[in-house]
Amino acid sequence: MSGARQENVRTLAAAIGRSEAEVEQLLDATVLITCAPGGERLAHYVEILLARTLSNVRRDVGSAPAVEVVLGAAAPRSRARVIGVGVDGYRLEVREGAVALGAAARPIVQLVAACYAAAAAVHTAIGAELPVPLRMPLSVDLEHLYGAAIARLDERIELGRCFMAGAGAIGNAVLAGFSTLDVHGELHICDPDDASDGNLNRCWWFDHEDLEKPKAERLVVRAQASMPNLRLAPHVVTLRDAIKTMGEKPPETLIVGVDSRRARRSLQSEMPRRVFDASTTGITELVLHVNEALTDRACMSCVYHEAPDEGAHEAHVADALGVGLANVRQNFVSADAAREIAKKYPELDAAQLQGLAYDSLFKQLCGKGQLKTSTAERVLAPFGFVSVLAGVMLAIEIAIRTGDVRQAPAHNYWRISPWGAPIARMREQRAKRPGCEFCGNSTLQGVVKSLWG
Ligand SMILES: [Zn+2]
Repeated sequence: MSGARQENVRTLAAAIGRSEAEVEQLLDATVLITCAPGGERLAHYVEILLARTLSNVRRDVGSAPAVEVVLGAAAPRSRARVIGVGVDGYRLEVREGAVALGAAARPIVQLVAACYAAAAAVHTAIGAELPVPLRMPLSVDLEHLYGAAIARLDERIELGRCFMAGAGAIGNAVLAGFSTLDVHGELHICDPDDASDGNLNRCWWFDHEDLEKPKAERLVVRAQASMPNLRLAPHVVTLRDAIKTMGEKPPETLIVGVDSRRARRSLQSEMPRRVFDASTTGITELVLHVNEALTDRACMSCVYHEAPDEGAHEAHVADALGVGLANVRQNFVSADAAREIAKKYPELDAAQLQGLAYDSLFKQLCGKGQLKTSTAERVLAPFGFVSVLAGVMLAIEIAIRTGDVRQAPAHNYWRISPWGAPIARMREQRAKRPGCEFCGNSTLQGVVKSLWG
């Protein structure tokens, strides 16, 4: 079984509380995509996303499908349950049965629609009791959500000199979003890790040819042609090392798509002026967070403060890998730790472990079923469409908050379900957290003031 499929099997098994053998055939459900004239792009997006989760996604009528995804006003071609998907202007709709909207709109609207279409199709196709309800009809009006700022999506977006930490699922998805917008500037993509086959179920741009190659470099190779006005530069190191090597001051704009809470807190201490961050919580939800230096709002350390279960998780990772807890808290594998891990896992090469993020390494070993551990805890990767929705929604946040931001919305934190329309009143304006290790450190705050004041 490929790593990508294994990740999906494992995620689904955990989600519905059945064995991996039982759920495997659920992922073999056939989904047929039927597309109205002019809806090729939407069909392509839906196909890319569905094929990352289900193994039988078809455009031609063959054996009886479990679900038929019908885009725009096309007539169904089977007797299967129909998930209708429509887009128009800034609106999209996903519902059981026919939709009144069309099959073409702004590409970014189609991308968002494709994520929700994939969620609805997967939920319907696997026919099991997922612990998250599918809330249909699923109707989204981006103009209603973002107000006048939504016009930014049609304008030239000046990103300037920007850094991105993490070239995995979220980083891939942010660039999928950018590929539909007129983004200008230069983006430095930092990630010390290679792509593993456990990543392929959720990385928009990657396929088998990218395996065991640096994610940052592969993302640039794959995505650059689709965003000619945004120069992409890969750095196969951490953000901190990239900045150090380039002799840069802290980044003006930082996009964050790393794995762990601790890694996010440590990125805040790089003192970026503006942060755009997206994360996923298993298959249940995604979180968008933005912040700007020198405001009274929450920073990334406030939002991703040390959670009570975080220590237990880190202790588990340390135990499973055969290193000390202090090692795991450094986020990245040191030369010494790499030797320790290779001692416990002789099939791994110490030289290649050095510099990897602990959470990525742990997820990778989970995905391959290689972990030598007595406890059953595992890190579950989300389904592809969850990560892609997170990155694409973050790309929208970036677009509407870049340039003239007077109309930008006030929220700095938003939890969104991939299984229902985004809810405007879930948007929060989070204040600083008392005791935040970053906001509460007067030395760091002094440096921030001198940098961005
Ligand atoms: Zn803070």
